[in-house]
Amino acid sequence: MTALLALAWAASSAAVLAAEMPANVDAKRMADPVATAANWMTYGGTYSEQRFSPLKQIDKSNVTRLGLAWFADYDTNLRQDGTPLKIDDVIYVSTAWSKVYALDARTGKTLWQYDPKTPGQWVRYLCCGIVNRGIAAWNGKIYLGTLDGRLVALDAKTGKPVWETLTIDPKQRYSITSAPRVAKGKVLVGLSGGEYGVRGYISAYDAESGKLDWRFYTVPGDPSQPPENDAMKTAAATWGKGSEEWLKRGGGGTTWDALVYDPVTNLVYIGTGNGTPWNQVYRDPKKGDNLFLASIVAVNADTGAYVWHYQETPAETWDYDAVSPLSVVDLNLNGQKQRVVLQASKNGFFYVLAARTGKLLKATPFVDLNWADGVDMKTGRPRVKPEARYPADGKGFNLFPGGAQGAHGWQGNAFSPDTGLFYIPTGHAYSAMVYDPNYKANETGTNLGIDFAAMRTWYTSHPEAKRSTTSLLQAVDPKTGQQVWAGDEHDGATGGVVATAGGLVFQGNGSGNHLRAFDASTGKVLWSFDVQTAVLAPPISYELDGKQYIAVSVGGNASDYYAPNYSRLLVFALDGKATLPPTTPYTPRPLLPPPLDAEATPADVQTGEQLYARNCAMCHGDRGRQARGQFPDLTRTPMLYTQDGFNAVVLKGALSARGMASFGDALKPEDTFRIRNFLIDAANKLKAAPPSAAPVAAPTAAEAHGQ
Ligand code: CA
Repeated sequence: MTALLALAWAASSAAVLAAEMPANVDAKRMADPVATAANWMTYGGTYSEQRFSPLKQIDKSNVTRLGLAWFADYDTNLRQDGTPLKIDDVIYVSTAWSKVYALDARTGKTLWQYDPKTPGQWVRYLCCGIVNRGIAAWNGKIYLGTLDGRLVALDAKTGKPVWETLTIDPKQRYSITSAPRVAKGKVLVGLSGGEYGVRGYISAYDAESGKLDWRFYTVPGDPSQPPENDAMKTAAATWGKGSEEWLKRGGGGTTWDALVYDPVTNLVYIGTGNGTPWNQVYRDPKKGDNLFLASIVAVNADTGAYVWHYQETPAETWDYDAVSPLSVVDLNLNGQKQRVVLQASKNGFFYVLAARTGKLLKATPFVDLNWADGVDMKTGRPRVKPEARYPADGKGFNLFPGGAQGAHGWQGNAFSPDTGLFYIPTGHAYSAMVYDPNYKANETGTNLGIDFAAMRTWYTSHPEAKRSTTSLLQAVDPKTGQQVWAGDEHDGATGGVVATAGGLVFQGNGSGNHLRAFDASTGKVLWSFDVQTAVLAPPISYELDGKQYIAVSVGGNASDYYAPNYSRLLVFALDGKATLPPTTPYTPRPLLPPPLDAEATPADVQTGEQLYARNCAMCHGDRGRQARGQFPDLTRTPMLYTQDGFNAVVLKGALSARGMASFGDALKPEDTFRIRNFLIDAANKLKAAPPSAAPVAAPTAAEAHGQ
């Protein structure tokens, strides 16, 4: 056989194998550098989740030739956060509403589509959007966590479910937006719900049978019951006894993004979320550390048994989830090669931890955070400023990084072994944290213990206070914690990244609607492409038929909810010649609010604002208006015109299939009358004051967050 024939035979047999066995992922392939370079077989690229591609066909010298190879439209106008997987000749990608597409990687043709049919009512339990960030693949199956808490195994060839299991107690307000991962034939899956009140945990299921293998809780359970393990015993000692609140609300500590299996240490690293309620005074008046909230916890991959933890934010009270993506890296520190876990945390510190022991090696701020004066390296504890805990004196604290967005959310970061730099999509937002003296446990809405309505009032009465909601890309040297370069600052949330051996970093600038390539060493923008919509999801890179591709899911954050959106998978290659269809002209809905109902009093409007803040603001933003929304702008909705129409939606669930759930169990007709009149009042005030002169809207968790 000639060499050429042998090559052709090898290629065709690989294709035959791919056709016979889609989603051909196992431990051997995950450890094979050729297979991992050509494919993107797990959420963060490889087990280490560095989001680094060793491909270098596309490089600094030729990236200007990068063009669209093909694109595939999605069936939704909602935001897209998903990291696609590319395995042999198929791309799998999850979209809004936890749907999955399998696409022919050569043509973009849809091979199958799967819709788990999540009930629209479940959107009430989502703090931050109807999103899904990714899927897992193993041995011919694709694994999906659904918004309503199911883990579904799909046949990768047909898209038909092989098994399905409920990972949650459906009476509790859990959800899943994160990507499962597979370690040693077990599917690891986390969950969300820390803004409502649940007990965090992570579960491992047998990939073939769907049987629960192990579960690790991140916070203790009912003290009247024996603890599940010694770790829970240790954790329980850090929570005040007799405080009903954290027990009733589950305590929090949800596991909604960071989840890494390291075959070298045989550990699974888990990032844990904020406490519930956010305000610790209500959660635990004794102000214990509340383990394992806001921590990185390592457990044994085989058993789920606790091995170590590092708590980034003891006595957490700011929504400082420690859930931003983790990367495992071999780093030369002080002349020694060390295996470390890296996290650029929501609280603004960049952490370097020893992967085997959890020892804190470095904690350096990567933004100008104002809640602490650094970290005491002896104790590993942040030196917290007392005023930052926004005490009950009601003075409030203008927190930076602001709790909802934080310094870094779910958007995938990357580490390049070539440059030695860590690329972080960072957030730069203030948010006024104001103690809520009237907080009462909420069985149907969020449980925060801070007052969103007071946040806006606080900025009005503190006109000198700094405010911003911007983002940028920062390159940090993990060895020093120092910034090497930073991209341009832009409004709103920003996108995840991928770094390549071509000396490039690809990232979308959020609602700036552009995918861009940065010089990985200098931060210079070398290439930019108008994607017609927001780009928040991290791109991936892979090789097919000898060609390198960059693929990214785009969509969301259009100028407003009603504007046309262009949710798609875009695939780029050198000399790609495809073009996107022109955008549809759009005129925003006019701001034409009706007058207040004749019988509505100022007290009704005021109570309406409080009811709105507790029940509606999480999705619909401050005073009914979001700058760019995946939920309708309520200052412009026709629903303001009639109370019957408003009630049909809010109390009777007329739009529940689209995600606007019924609030009939939480609100009475007199409540919706007040909320509607508050919105009418807000819309009329907005009309009277042009947006530039209006108070800056408080940051909306829904836009930036994604948990
Ligand atoms: Ca949170």
